[in-house]
Amino acid sequence: MTARILVVDDVEANVRLLEARLLAEYFEVVTASNGPDAIAICQAGRCDVILLDVMMPGMDGYEVCTRLKADPKTAHIPIIMVTALDQASDRVQGLDAGADDFLTKPVDDLAMTTRVKSLARLKHSMDELKLRAATGASLGMETEAEVVDPRNGRDGKILIVDDRASSYERSVNALTTEHSVAVVTDPQEGLFRAADDDFDAIIISLGIENFDPLRLCSQLRSLDRTRLVPILLVAQKEDQAVLIRAIDLGVNDYITRPLDVNELRARVRSQVRRKRLNDQLRASVHNTMEMAVTDGLTGLNNRRYFDNHMQGLLQKANLANKPLSLIIMDIDHFKHVNDTYGHQVGDDVLKIFAERVLKNVRNKDLACRFGGEEFIVAMPDTDRELAFVVADRMRREVSAHPFIVDNGRQQISITVSAGVAGIAGPNETVETMLKRADERLYDAKRRGRNQVVADAA
Ligand code: GH3
Ligand code: MG
Ligand code: MG
Repeated sequence: MTARILVVDDVEANVRLLEARLLAEYFEVVTASNGPDAIAICQAGRCDVILLDVMMPGMDGYEVCTRLKADPKTAHIPIIMVTALDQASDRVQGLDAGADDFLTKPVDDLAMTTRVKSLARLKHSMDELKLRAATGASLGMETEAEVVDPRNGRDGKILIVDDRASSYERSVNALTTEHSVAVVTDPQEGLFRAADDDFDAIIISLGIENFDPLRLCSQLRSLDRTRLVPILLVAQKEDQAVLIRAIDLGVNDYITRPLDVNELRARVRSQVRRKRLNDQLRASVHNTMEMAVTDGLTGLNNRRYFDNHMQGLLQKANLANKPLSLIIMDIDHFKHVNDTYGHQVGDDVLKIFAERVLKNVRNKDLACRFGGEEFIVAMPDTDRELAFVVADRMRREVSAHPFIVDNGRQQISITVSAGVAGIAGPNETVETMLKRADERLYDAKRRGRNQVVADAA
């Protein structure tokens, strides 16, 4: 993934140095030498991650950061503060301004590329999500996934895997103020816990005795349940070589000892944010796909879904030499329901009818709202006779129990007619099956409604 990085520093030489390193990693680079220029570039929507120098004459880095985070147009752009001094007070001030991460001058190559890559990915997910939400809204779809506040990475569930109390206690203390934290001292148990529970981030110590922590990282990345959980490593300064391998394995970030409490909090927050964005993104993709194949009123599959799947069901039945049946149902005198009680009550009837259909079919049956007040059920491994029995059971249940509508205020008697068809021969197609089931439905209507007619053998 390519990303455009904005480098902001008042010293030309610093800008050139960072630019050269980023270009070597195939990032695109934009530069600015003061705060106002940087803000203008961001407002024009021209960058994905900002490397922001703190010490600048005029508007300093904290102020640039505060302004960018206060403007909804630029608030979601990740900001890495570049501080000259490795001082905790700088970081506290940076966190208050809304910074997402920190680097200390002289800037370490690995640290910079890891952080830039990781934040660029986060920004990319964020953009995707915003786009989806916007598309969904313009299509009139309900978008359950509200775009999360990019600054909120708190109240996460964090798992710490570390075998030394002296080492994890500091992290636990730092993180319990804003997250719920669990600790396991055995790496294998860590894997089980991670797979069992839904953590927002996992912190693994590289100092675990008698176990290769990278093994745990790779296991976490290969399990479906944990593939996307962010992993943060706690390393020693001399662990560089291991870290490079860890990042190749898909570890998201690392922090070096001695632990800076504020840095740890910032890193964890940004991982929690990442996890939530990912979850939302996946949920919204899932919803979009669901909406495309689901009938909004009844929650049954829609006609498009039927058309896409029926062909496959027929092929499968023919290959396995198994029966397959279709039931088409149409509510009797439904227009009369609408005319008498109103369209809203008509909708209630359709919903209740769909529930009753679902109650009477198996999981492997394909129940769809075919259109209007017409419903269809495709039944694998089911011959015409059995399908007739099922259809007639539904018909009886519909006519025997009045529909309670309008929030319990009214009861309406409803009846339904149905036509049933099975596979008639080797030349059967979806169209011919549908046509025969429809003809039998028509027969049922003609013979007085509230009945099921099956295709003759
Ligand atoms: P028959 O017994 O011959 O099936 O008569 P019918 O009145 O059920 O059939 P007709 O096709 O004449 O009318 C179907 C009605 O269903 C007309 C249409 O307005 C109504 N309808 C279709 N879709 C909806 C819907 O989503 N909600 C409501 N309330 N009514 C709908
Ligand atoms: Mg400066
Ligand atoms: Mg009807």
